[in-house]
Formats: sequence, C-alpha cells, structure tokens
Amino acid sequence: MANIKLELVELRKEFGDLIAVDDVSLGVEEGETMALLGPSGCGKSTTLNMIVGLEPPTSGDILIDGKSVLDVPPGQRNVGLVFQDYAVFTHMNVRHNLEYGLRVRGMTRPDMEREVAKVAAFLNLGHQLDSKPLELGASELQRVAIGRTLVTNPEILLLDEPLSNLEAEMRNQMRRELRRIQTETGQTIIYVTHDQIEALSLAHRIAVMDFGALKQYDTAHNVYHYPDNTFVGSFLGNPPMNFVRGQFGHDGNRPVVAQNGSIIPVPPSSAAGLGDGAEVIVGMRPESMLVAEAGDPEAFIALVVAVEPQGPETVLTVRLGQTDLKLIVGTGMQAHEGSEITIRPDAELLALFDAASGVRFR
Ligand code: ATP
Repeated sequence: MANIKLELVELRKEFGDLIAVDDVSLGVEEGETMALLGPSGCGKSTTLNMIVGLEPPTSGDILIDGKSVLDVPPGQRNVGLVFQDYAVFTHMNVRHNLEYGLRVRGMTRPDMEREVAKVAAFLNLGHQLDSKPLELGASELQRVAIGRTLVTNPEILLLDEPLSNLEAEMRNQMRRELRRIQTETGQTIIYVTHDQIEALSLAHRIAVMDFGALKQYDTAHNVYHYPDNTFVGSFLGNPPMNFVRGQFGHDGNRPVVAQNGSIIPVPPSSAAGLGDGAEVIVGMRPESMLVAEAGDPEAFIALVVAVEPQGPETVLTVRLGQTDLKLIVGTGMQAHEGSEITIRPDAELLALFDAASGVRFR
C-alpha cells in the first residue's frame, strides 16, 4: 500500500459563528492528485490555507508523512502553494523568479543553477529564462508560477484554481501540462477547483465539499457514477443527475417508486431494507437512461416535452408525473415533442436516496 502523504483529521475552522471547514477527515496517498471540489464559499481555500499554515485550524490535526505539522511554521512545512493569480515577481526575470525559493533556502549557486535548468527544461521555459513576466503569455506565466514552487521540491504541491484565468484552449494545454507533471514527477498534488471537468479529468480522488462539510471522498469514477448523496449527484454532471421524488412500494413483486400514478421500476439491489411507503428520491444520470421497447418490464413511460439536438448527441426533456427529466441520447434516436417514450434506466447506476436527508440507501 502507498504511503499516506497527507492526512486531515477532523479538521475544523470557524470564523466567528461561521463553520468554514466542518471536521473534515481524509488521507492523500503519495503520488496521488486529490481535487478539492465544491461551489464558491464551501471551504476549499480555507482547507488549503490550513495545510500550508497560513490559517490555524480551530481544532483537528494535519499530518504530513504521519507527523503533525500544526507547530511547524508555513515556510518549513515543505508544501508548495501556487496561487490562482500567478504570484510571480514582475520585476525579476524568469531565471530569478525560479531561483527565488532556492536562494532563500541558502542553496549554493551551482546547485541552484542545476535545479533551475532542470525545472526550466521540464516546463519548456529554457528559452525564456531572461524574459520578464510581462513579456510572457498566460500559459508561460502559469508555468513560471508552477516552476517557482516545483523547483523547491515540495512534499506536496498545492494548486489553487490554477486554470481559472486561462482561455479555453490554454486551459486544455495546461491540463495536459499538469497531467505530465503528475505522471513524470510522481508529485503529490492537491488541486482546488470549482470546475468538475478539471477535477474529473485530473484527480485520482475527489473531495466534494459543501458548506464546509465533506460530502464524499472517493475516486473520480465513483463520485460521478455512485454519488453518496443528492448534493454530489447534482453538483457533478451537465446536465446534472435527474431526481424523482416518490414513494417506495411494490407493483406485484416488482419494487417501484410511485409519483402521482407514474411508476419507476427500481432494481431490488438498490432497495434492500426499504419498507413500503418510504419517501425516497430516485437518481438517474441523463446518459444512463435508454429508450426501450414498449412493454419492457424494467421501463417507465414519459412524455417528450423538448428535443434539443447538440451535435453528436441530443438532449431530450421528458415529463414523468410532475417532474421533468433530461436524457442524453444518440442522434439516431427519433423523438417528437408530445409523444410518449419508454425509458429504461441503467439498473447498476440508478440510485435511491432518502428524501429527508438526501443520503443514498446502500
Ligand atoms: P471560493 O471558491 O469562492 O474561493 P472556497 O470554497 O475556497 O470559495 P473559502 O474561501 O474557504 O471557500 O470560504 C469558506 C467560507 O469561509 C466562506 O463563507 C467565506 O466567506 C468564509 N471565510 C473565508 N475566509 C474568511 C475570513 N478570513 N474571515 C471570515 N470568513 C471567512
């Protein structure tokens, strides 16, 4: 098993009455990229600032390589933070920017030159060493900011919304660059973002936060396909997971969820231990609902209310009882507004949540 590089133990931060980080516990393995993902104000930056040492926790602990770092000053934690707004010194050229962290550590000039050359070559900045930051493009500037931190060989590289100031094409390029840093350096990375695509495409594991609380911590695959609660199901995905509120029951032997006379058959495995009459929410991803043949016993019937072709796929809006659902289907699918269609959700991916708490039944 890989070493746990970073561990947060019931980490908490209060600002007056506000709980910015609510007893968060998680571990990040060496070489892993972990994304802290959530809406604005959910506590991502506060968590990052506590790891770096810029903000003391109210309670809880932060362990690096198994040792608490709460008493270690920020400069000595050996974690490298790259800020959102590329903290580079504009009056220094790229070489001096890259040297800065090594110079303050008292590294000798030959060692410093060797390390800077290595990082500059790795980040394709070798030809820009004598340029000033203002002469650089956004992606080069971002690489200088990352390089300044990477050159100090941190135990953990912390990136705070690193791509948020870049245009779409630059973003893709930097995403590829970050993936290369991941794979070629084996660096442990904590990546803060509110962008689910970035988290899903770069992180091994994702910590989804809301109002300071950790809502799920799992692999990118599992947080997307097997959300623990309705918050995670709705925060990830575009369009997000569909939810249908109803009552659990049986139609003959079949477990179903009923809403105003409409019924959705649900797989027995998702309903273990549920009693008839329980108030539940059925969760179905738009791309996990197939158009089926009429009479399919695992399907339900809905009314097509909108058909939106979007190039390689079509988004259908269908109405079931009082709830509108989004489906993503192939362009071969001929659907007409006002007609009925038969829909079979993928039994493996359908989720049942408790209607009161939003927590998934397991
Ligand atoms: P964003 O993506 O907008 O940066 P975030 O998820 O990083 O948001 P935080 O910046 O960690 O969230 O903020 C969490 C909560 O704590 C917010 O409600 C914020 O207003 C509050 N907060 C953050 N720093 C302070 C502070 N120094 N004093 C008081 N409240 C703060």
